Amino acid sequence: MENLRKHVKILMDLGFDYILVSEDMYEMDLKEKEKIMSELNRQIQECKKCDLYENRTQAVLGEGNLNAKVMFIGEAPGGDEDKQGRPFVGRAGKLLTKLIEKSGYKRTDFYIANICKCRPPGNRTPTPWEMEQCFPYLKKQIEVIDPKVLCLLGATAGRAFLNRNVAITKERGSLINWEGRILYLTYHPAYVLRNPNAEKVLEEDIRKSIEIAYPS
Ligand code: SF4
Repeated sequence: MENLRKHVKILMDLGFDYILVSEDMYEMDLKEKEKIMSELNRQIQECKKCDLYENRTQAVLGEGNLNAKVMFIGEAPGGDEDKQGRPFVGRAGKLLTKLIEKSGYKRTDFYIANICKCRPPGNRTPTPWEMEQCFPYLKKQIEVIDPKVLCLLGATAGRAFLNRNVAITKERGSLINWEGRILYLTYHPAYVLRNPNAEKVLEEDIRKSIEIAYPS
């Protein structure tokens, strides 16, 4: 992937307006991404960097399109995710999937992950220290997938990126530049399950974050 980037940059520097990438190169690129994700998955299953490893059934890396332009990021796996090894598969996940589909897309068009890869006991909020320990894994995923928009689901995910408390009811809908990508802050679907009036807002935020990444 790095080599492909370098080659594209060299060609752009040489004055090419557009560059055709063959299917073979695309396939190689995707295979390389899959290889890195598989290695990351191996690392998190063995990781003991924070105390969350003690209660996990398994760590949950994330899933979806490795070429996605939008990543949806929550705080940590819950009980269903811990059992199944997949992100956002419980009630909150079903709501997220429904709202993505209402935007005219499929869940598999995007990549879905969490800040912490292991379930906190009793689904408590991960501590800032735990998030800090786990963040390098997510950062690597972001580098590999290379999305334009990171749609952050909830104040805790916002805090992990911004290193400060986030007042999500005030700040949702904000677009923030983060290392050349756009952070889009919105509610966590679990909050919306407790506050059904917020569903329309989350639906609109999901739609907008997709529109920013895929302008028509
Ligand atoms: S939450 Fe992250 S840092 Fe903590 S043990 Fe799990 S994989 Fe490692």
